[in-house]
Amino acid sequence: MRVGILGGGQLGRMLAIAGLPLGVRCWVLDPSPEAPARAVATHICADYRDRSALEQLVQAVDVITYEFENVPVESARALAELRPVYPPPRALAIAQDRLSEKTFFQSLGIPTPRFERVDTLEDLRNAVAELGLPALLKTRRGGYDGKGQYLMRGSDDIERAWGALGGVPLILEEHIAFERELSVIAVRSRAGECAFYPLIENHHREGILRRSLAPAPKTSPERQARAERYARAILEALNYVGVLALELFEHHGNLLANEMAPRVHNSGHWTIEGAVTSQFENHLRAIGGWPLGTTDSRGHCAMINLIGTTPSSEAVLKIPGAHLHLYGKSPRPGRKLGHITLCEPSEELLAQKLAQAQALLDSGTPAEE
Ligand code: AMP
Repeated sequence: MRVGILGGGQLGRMLAIAGLPLGVRCWVLDPSPEAPARAVATHICADYRDRSALEQLVQAVDVITYEFENVPVESARALAELRPVYPPPRALAIAQDRLSEKTFFQSLGIPTPRFERVDTLEDLRNAVAELGLPALLKTRRGGYDGKGQYLMRGSDDIERAWGALGGVPLILEEHIAFERELSVIAVRSRAGECAFYPLIENHHREGILRRSLAPAPKTSPERQARAERYARAILEALNYVGVLALELFEHHGNLLANEMAPRVHNSGHWTIEGAVTSQFENHLRAIGGWPLGTTDSRGHCAMINLIGTTPSSEAVLKIPGAHLHLYGKSPRPGRKLGHITLCEPSEELLAQKLAQAQALLDSGTPAEE
């Protein structure tokens, strides 16, 4: 199977790596000459709207997917006329707009934080009156890793938040003082088979994912079942094929949907070593029309993102059982450069290894963490 991927970042790179033993070859379309996936895939270096590059991709591959959700929906739709494109471009269109995404969740009976559409300063005043403060003002499009967001604490913030973000379509969301953030990674095959990984507990700082624990500690089977029910509703409503991540807030015993990613997801990197089948392999199995692989975890796992700088590889590899993944990107503050995965037979052992890894990140190298 020859797979075309829109986007050639670390997600594309890990997809291509997962494809190699299955005989899958990947082509990535990415405008950056330094796209991390170029080390393991054929790189078409062009803009996502470049017609001749899209044509070249179509000629090279059997099926097309994406690893980056801000690719133009029109490009995905144009490609879908000529080759199967999975997940369906409609999933991309919904996920690109926070308002349509939350409206979609609600239409499926999936609870979300309360929200209001904001296009004018007057809308913002009305939305604050409706939802109260604190609240988060977010751009509907283009935000990622906490960018394009303004936390409004008091009514003085109305003008400030509008000054910072106004002029583009916005959404105001009530601020949820959640107990924790969770994600569920789901996959649906071309035959309609669904599989779900165990719930993942995610820790963010400054809007960026720092650490994931899987299976999420202290999670009841009921909580797992509810998350799966929500994810399944999305997969079925969209006739979805591939991996989908659904980010959730756990709050007063409820799960509230924050957003979905129609692609493999950072909170699923632990599955490479920590699950029987990785999210990357399962995405390829799904879009290739093959049976899905088992999603069980192999123990208690943690994934630590390496952000801004990386520690010495030798020091990481000295930690027994630690797995190091570097994405081949040049360092820059706030940039995801790699990750470390730890998998242990018990929570106690995992806590010990995590402490070792964290001590390493906190010392030695001038890590941004
Ligand atoms: P997002 O870009 O929507 O995923 O937001 C990035 C991070 O901001 C999330 O992972 C949360 O930590 C936080 N966040 C987003 N929306 C809310 C909300 N409505 N209430 C509280 N925290 C939020």
